[in-house]
Amino acid sequence: MAALSLYIVNYYESTQIKERQDKIYSMAYMIKNLIISTDCLNSTATVTTAQSGGVATSSTGFDAVSIELEQLTGIYSGRIIIVDSNFTIIKDTYVIDEKKTCLTESVIKCFEGNEINKYDSELNNIEIALQVSGSNDAKGVIYFNFTTSDIQKKTRDINIALGEFILVVFVILIGVGIAYTFLFVKPFKQMEKEVNRIKTGKIEEELSVGGYTEIANVSNSFNHVLKRLRDIDNTRQEFVSNVSHELKTPITSIKVLADSLLNQEGIPAEMYQEFLGDIVEEIDRENQIITDLLNLVKLDKKSNDLNISSVNINEMVERVLKRLKPLAAKKNIELVLESFRPIMAEVDDVKMTMVVSNLVENAIKYNVMDGWVRVSLNADLKYFYIKIQDSGIGIPEEDQSKVFERFYRVDKARTRETGGTGLGLAITSGAVHIHNGEIKLYSVEGEGTTFTIRIPLAYAKNS
Ligand code: ADP
Repeated sequence: MAALSLYIVNYYESTQIKERQDKIYSMAYMIKNLIISTDCLNSTATVTTAQSGGVATSSTGFDAVSIELEQLTGIYSGRIIIVDSNFTIIKDTYVIDEKKTCLTESVIKCFEGNEINKYDSELNNIEIALQVSGSNDAKGVIYFNFTTSDIQKKTRDINIALGEFILVVFVILIGVGIAYTFLFVKPFKQMEKEVNRIKTGKIEEELSVGGYTEIANVSNSFNHVLKRLRDIDNTRQEFVSNVSHELKTPITSIKVLADSLLNQEGIPAEMYQEFLGDIVEEIDRENQIITDLLNLVKLDKKSNDLNISSVNINEMVERVLKRLKPLAAKKNIELVLESFRPIMAEVDDVKMTMVVSNLVENAIKYNVMDGWVRVSLNADLKYFYIKIQDSGIGIPEEDQSKVFERFYRVDKARTRETGGTGLGLAITSGAVHIHNGEIKLYSVEGEGTTFTIRIPLAYAKNS
């Protein structure tokens, strides 16, 4: 602001001076012409001038010039001198130097033929010297010296007013700046305090920092992160308690079986056989849960663990169906494979085999006697699709969104019979997602279930 004001004031001053100089110069020229036309250097000529009332009067040329000089010096404060060829001052608007000799540099230069028209910024005056002539080879110089101090005074006044204005604005800005900084920093300090409190482990609390929009947004985002942390923490706790519960169940059974063998005397060998058989079954179950849990943990480590290779999907599915044929045969379930085209895809063979195995195994386990399981394979340019349909018991609508959760089983008692851990679909959907794929479920209770999987043919690590 200060620099701009300075520039504007300087510009104003120089244009004012230039304007003043031009005006004085044009009036000086007019006076020069008047001197020449009235031949007043010889001071005997007569001129007719038009007066305000329109009445024509006569006066000497010198008088007419004097009037013009007085008018000019009346408008702008300055001095006008007329010097004749003997360097004698024949007219001085200050009167004091009349009849005296004038040998100033400007006058001499002008007599030599150099017209003077300059502004002296140190003395703050405009100097103009013009040569004049008259009859009988009379020569002279008319010299003008006008001060511009009134312009300088005006610009000085403007400068002072602007300086005061800038000072006031500066003080106001500093005040506003300090207040704004204080207001700006205050919510941050409050936020730091609250974050430090939450840092000590109180993630159930929320940030309640208000203030302007940005800080409120940061606060909201932080609360979202906190909510996510809480969700993760809850899921972790739930998972740990589920795991403990699931692992404890077979151990409790084993203990009950072992205790009853220990506490009874004279138990027949067949009973020993039967109880020990049950104990081995429970151990197998425990083993199955631990294996499933380890599979889940591996999937949680995300794609780092994937072992991608080019896999013939048709052959892989055929292998799975062949392995599960005996299980299906127990319930006289028909296994059908429908292959629409040969499919080669970049997948982790072991994990994809596990996905298909889990789904077909479920389709058999949760099926009815003499039912069917139909597996169909298809592909387009980007994806391959596996559809596993069964004629089984179906999944009630309210359970459909939950079956992919860990340890979720629709009918606990029934799944225990089938030897399920409730981890199969969690592992399956984890393995599908790690391949950047999608898994969907359609089911009607009592009619059957269809699982569809869509996996990209080419594996892209970061998609
Ligand atoms: P589980 O080891 O108990 O089979 P899953 O995670 O594989 O665990 O399945 C979760 C639950 O979803 C099962 O307990 C079962 O109730 C239901 N389910 C899964 N697949 C089917 C299916 N094809 N038909 C009917 N119910 C199913």
